[in-house]
Amino acid sequence: LPELPEVELVRRKVEASALGRTIASVEVLDIGVLEGASTEGLKTALTGHALTRTDRHGKQLFFRIGNGRWLTVHLGMTGDLIFLEDGRGLPRFTRVRFDFEDGSSFVYEDMRKFGAIGLTPSKASFLERKRLGPDALAIGREDFVERVSRHRRPIKTVLLDQSVLAGVGNLYSDEVLFQCGVHPLALADGLDEDQLRCLHRNLAIVLRSSIDARTDFDQLPEGYMLKARHPSSRCPKGHGPWHMMKVNGRTAFFCPQCQRL
Ligand SMILES: [Zn+2]
Repeated sequence: LPELPEVELVRRKVEASALGRTIASVEVLDIGVLEGASTEGLKTALTGHALTRTDRHGKQLFFRIGNGRWLTVHLGMTGDLIFLEDGRGLPRFTRVRFDFEDGSSFVYEDMRKFGAIGLTPSKASFLERKRLGPDALAIGREDFVERVSRHRRPIKTVLLDQSVLAGVGNLYSDEVLFQCGVHPLALADGLDEDQLRCLHRNLAIVLRSSIDARTDFDQLPEGYMLKARHPSSRCPKGHGPWHMMKVNGRTAFFCPQCQRL
């Protein structure tokens, strides 16, 4: 599942390839991925305009269109944006295709169709409608401590709640909790100031490390859980195998010696 680092890499890819090119036509091959826009609405809003800016908030992507509106893209579980220099080699699960005036194309592919493409006049209203909290990489320490510590729920659940902060999923929440020695079921409102500050600091470190590693977990620093997060693997601090449990239907990995409840 794409989390913040994976989505950030897609944003950078679009920034480097499609930015500034003028859209000549739009073809929607599957209306199932449209949300907040019709096929005609998408064509009208985009045709004849260039993408002038890329932005990301949590796992949500925004592309500014020349006329001032924003194209919104959420990758869901399997979505990706692919740039085709000569417009050929369409991926099998292409759902929407944007052809540029210079012959290149930009396609949205999504095997499982949990993603969403739409339009919005303003990012702020979109974020409010979706009830998305601050971006996990941009949130300041005081804001993080205040937002997280007000919940009497397991910290793992709170970190995954996109209305508390946006962008963190199952894998990165496991890593951050491991780095800070916090048990996934520890209640958020019971954490002390040092633990909360540790989580905030490590959230930024872990997300940036993954972006720098281009989300290749083998390239992450030593001592990271994500380098070997599978049932047959062990805590890198010399402890036993990972323990696993379900939290909100997701499998949490943790080391019972490093992360005591
Ligand atoms: Zn351990």
